[in-house]
Amino acid sequence: MRFNELKLSSEVLQSIEEMGFENPSEVQESTIPEILEGHDLLAQAQTGTGKTASFGIPMIEKIEDNNYESLQALVLVPTRELARQVSNELQKLSRNKKFIKVVAIYGGADMGKQLRELKRGASIVVGTPGRIMDHMKRKTIKLDDLKFLTLDEADEMFDMGFRDDMKTIIEKTNMDRQTLFFSATFDNNIKEFSKLYQKNPKKVIIEKKELTAEKIKQYYLELSRNMKTEILNRLILINKPKKSIIFCNTKRMVESLEGEIAQKGYKVDSLHGDMRQSSRDNVMKKFRNNSIDILIATDVAARGLDISDIDIVFNYDLPQQAEYYVHRIGRTARAGKKGLSFTFITNKDYSKFREIEKYANIKMEKMELPTKYDVER
Ligand code: ADP
Ligand code: MG
Repeated sequence: MRFNELKLSSEVLQSIEEMGFENPSEVQESTIPEILEGHDLLAQAQTGTGKTASFGIPMIEKIEDNNYESLQALVLVPTRELARQVSNELQKLSRNKKFIKVVAIYGGADMGKQLRELKRGASIVVGTPGRIMDHMKRKTIKLDDLKFLTLDEADEMFDMGFRDDMKTIIEKTNMDRQTLFFSATFDNNIKEFSKLYQKNPKKVIIEKKELTAEKIKQYYLELSRNMKTEILNRLILINKPKKSIIFCNTKRMVESLEGEIAQKGYKVDSLHGDMRQSSRDNVMKKFRNNSIDILIATDVAARGLDISDIDIVFNYDLPQQAEYYVHRIGRTARAGKKGLSFTFITNKDYSKFREIEKYANIKMEKMELPTKYDVER
């Protein structure tokens, strides 16, 4: 199918073309027409399948010019990075409909600036539940005229404890809104919210075979803890990634590894949950514009973030939760590209390792430890 078969306006088609999208992805093909027709929607698809544009395109189509003073669409997302990323994508999609203003609202960012942007009249707000609640209390966001309410990465918002905030927010919106839920998994929380807050939702499930994970060559290496950094270095030298992410489980590990990797002369930086928002934004910017080659991160960076052209994901530490494995490796092989991942397994990781294979329904391939000789070849 092609985008021009989806009954889109010339403005939006032009934005899509400017963004370099050739054809709609599978999830876009099945959700965009339903949303355009006015249905509520419950959509499940893995990361990297193009969910943002799935709700973004029809939302932007249906936002009206005559009503631009009031907020017409609210998108709730779990993290600050996603708030920025999703609002960026929506901005690009709406750039040929000039009256649409997209504002990102998230904690840690300058409140004054957000207030000014809201005052100028936002048509779409993308935000994290906590900060949206703040604005609701200050009465700087009004949800009475919403046409669209979207929960993006809904499962993640539940995992992060936003359940009560989400409830409060949804219950403050008008009843005749269109309600869209997007998630990588359907758990009981989402089913319950769907029953409570959606009207005859259309269900779209993109089967596992469409998993980006299928396009990722996934290796594991058995090694002892004290070998990890050396082996990591050899893997980098052999595979020469242009852009890679190394995941660790703790902030402390991230920081110490950053030091070791920097010593080897790589352009490296790190990302973890305790950093100030401005530093987090700054690191993401540098990673996006290639002024760093290696990002070392905890799982704050794992979910939903869209950074293109990552060729290798390293799991320096095996993730504590099986589902994070999928999110981590989903950082590579975005939008049809091929990807590679290396996962380090120590003795104590075995049961978790099996659990991950079962959960993700994959088999990682064992790789022998590269030797110094392999590096020199
Ligand atoms: P998800 O939310 O499912 O994880 P995103 O919406 O973040 O996925 O999209 C992943 C990447 O694919 C983004 O860089 C996005 O711009 C790109 N993308 C989305 N739709 C298309 C498309 N139809 N063709 C090409 N690239 C696309
Ligand atoms: Mg997404």
